Amino acid sequence: MKKFTTIVSVMLVSFSFFGLQIKAQQIAPPNATNLEEQNTMSVLWFQKSGEAKALYYQGYNIGKMRLDEILKSKKYGLKPAIVLDIDETIVDNSPYLAWNVQTRKKFDVNWNQWVQKAESRALPGALAFLKYADSKGVAIYYISNRQEAQKVATIKVLHQIGAPQANSKHVLLQQPGEIGKEIRRAKVAATHDIVLLFGDNLNDFSGFDGLSVSGRIQAVDRRKDEFGKKLIVFPNPMYGDWEGAIYNYNEKKSDSEKAKLRKESLEVVQP
Ligand SMILES: [Mg+2]
Repeated sequence: MKKFTTIVSVMLVSFSFFGLQIKAQQIAPPNATNLEEQNTMSVLWFQKSGEAKALYYQGYNIGKMRLDEILKSKKYGLKPAIVLDIDETIVDNSPYLAWNVQTRKKFDVNWNQWVQKAESRALPGALAFLKYADSKGVAIYYISNRQEAQKVATIKVLHQIGAPQANSKHVLLQQPGEIGKEIRRAKVAATHDIVLLFGDNLNDFSGFDGLSVSGRIQAVDRRKDEFGKKLIVFPNPMYGDWEGAIYNYNEKKSDSEKAKLRKESLEVVQP
């Protein structure tokens, strides 16, 4: 009975909360919208859709096919290397993003705590591919915009999932004041031929940094032949430069300004 009463009271609270939400939506400007809450569907898709898992397998399967072709063709001068991003490319941080949705806390607030826990799991296909590349004698570089101060925890999580070559020389994190990943890619390219790059964000590849929303899309169209050939992209609807571009990379914009820009950026046709 006690359980029943609890359920009823929860339902009443939820119902009245829901009722309030509907009324608020009818009259309120976009600043009534919580941005973290809006990530519910993106995180759900990432965690609960077979499609998301399939796209990771697809990316790593293509990566393996391409690696075989490249190694067979021997069309590289220096020692071949592959460059991979870490977050949402090799490891899955969606439980942290789900926590952001539940608590409505901003991504940055507890991100370092999450990193230090080193509990992220491997994404589908990542480990098998990395082990295969390692078995073929290919150099693996992990280039992430995690901060240099997070290096111990980052190497720890890569070790925990069994990622090969995850040592301080192969895990290249963002230095204080550094913008983008270009300097670190150039450092690898000085001694290796980078034959494949993997990422969930266009900034994991050269030439996409700081572009506007339409600029990013045009650049992707221009370079369409590189995808699945040299550049392997994974899906991340939860966060990324695709979102930053919508706010003109101005993180100081208020939540209501961001909510407004989200709505205004939708391409709408009245049915
Ligand atoms: Mg990433």
